[in-house]
Amino acid sequence: MSVVEELVRLSLRLGEPGQDLAILAEGNASALDGDTFWVKASGFSMSSMNAAGLIQVDLRHALDVLNGPDLDDAQTREALKQVRTDKDTDLMPSVETFMHAYLLSLPDIAFVGHTHPTPLLSLLATDQAESIARKRLFPDEIVCCGPATAYVPYVDPGLPLARAIKSSVERYIETWESTPKTIWLQNHGLIVLGKNRKEIESGTLMGVKAARVWLGALSSGQTLTPLTEQQVNRIHTRPDEHYRQRLLWQLKGTQS
Ligand SMILES: [Zn+2]
Repeated sequence: MSVVEELVRLSLRLGEPGQDLAILAEGNASALDGDTFWVKASGFSMSSMNAAGLIQVDLRHALDVLNGPDLDDAQTREALKQVRTDKDTDLMPSVETFMHAYLLSLPDIAFVGHTHPTPLLSLLATDQAESIARKRLFPDEIVCCGPATAYVPYVDPGLPLARAIKSSVERYIETWESTPKTIWLQNHGLIVLGKNRKEIESGTLMGVKAARVWLGALSSGQTLTPLTEQQVNRIHTRPDEHYRQRLLWQLKGTQS
């Protein structure tokens, strides 16, 4: 399957109406393709995605913009036009293109999915979100979403958000010595990054399940018992969990 076909399939999965991950033109996904990447064009819906709704971007050029001077709205729009590999197209890349460029430049990352799932957004609208991002309630959450989730306080979408995500991911890598699998954006949504489409799908679905578990546990009125740091580390570094992880993705691969 080509990169574009994989990305169309991922977008359709993330946009499935029954999943409540993204509605209307919410969310976006991207995939690395050599020195370029493909990302959702602005205004398209993931639920009806096809190859015509994707746009190819020069990775190095987009990273130069990310690491360059601050831009106002008009300059950002011009920069989004300039990073396209095809300057003649009428399509504009998603406003979150610079965030995708940064995440796809990380080692071993080839796919990124960004959604606005309702249960997670409920959690991200509370003053507990940042501390919850560092906790884990059940083992499969660690397997699919990582030992903790990188957290980004609310900032304007676009270039400011891309830069805030970069800072948060750099802090995460210093702490955990690995790239995060999941990122929470305060009052906004979820980002999942991984080597392949399956990692994005499993990280997104498990991240939403974890949000539902948190909401249920918080509303129970009972004392919460998150996994201890030792328990989290044990699963995070356990060889058989890595084996399970691979198996899970292979298994899912045979079903679709
Ligand atoms: Zn968003």
